[in-house]
Amino acid sequence: MDQNNQYEVVVLFNGYSCNTEGGSQSNCTCTLIKGPKNIIVDTMTAWDGNRLQNALEEQGLKCSDIDYVVCTHGHSDHIGCNYLFQCAMHIVGFCISKNHYYFDFDFSTGKPYFIDQKVRVIPTPGHTMQDVSVIVSTNKGSYGITGDLFENKDDEDIWHTLGVDNAELQAKHRNEMLKYVDFIVPGHGPMFEARYIWDKRK
Ligand SMILES: [Zn+2]
Repeated sequence: MDQNNQYEVVVLFNGYSCNTEGGSQSNCTCTLIKGPKNIIVDTMTAWDGNRLQNALEEQGLKCSDIDYVVCTHGHSDHIGCNYLFQCAMHIVGFCISKNHYYFDFDFSTGKPYFIDQKVRVIPTPGHTMQDVSVIVSTNKGSYGITGDLFENKDDEDIWHTLGVDNAELQAKHRNEMLKYVDFIVPGHGPMFEARYIWDKRK
């Protein structure tokens, strides 16, 4: 098989979240999908520009090499550095834009947006009503980069308490995601194998 057609999923930064006095502290997991198209999923806060650029440099990429920015939803710790990617198509939740142009695409019908045959953006509402996830097929397996559909690998008992717009929908999309993919990159923690959650549910 032609290696040049392959995608690789590289987690640039592991997100986290914790409660602090009078609030909470958090940042999202930021993922690079490297291949025929270069795609960033979730760009952290507006204070993370320098370290995001440095992390891309370590991968041999400049901001202008990024073809797509996908933000799993519109919260400020997932969209903060979108401005760095001036050559990219931006997909923020259900909204697809480039420069001042907004494209018609109706995620609310459930249909996927194909970046190409191996990468697609699918609607996974619940955490917000416009959440999306990215599904990537690679020669190491399939990956779901899900944003806050999964907070982290140990969220089974708490995810519904974390500011959820529609818990029923989120539960449905979580279960579907666990069936689709081998690996999950959650919104605020390191990547894990989907079967980790299946094993816990037994
Ligand atoms: Zn989040």
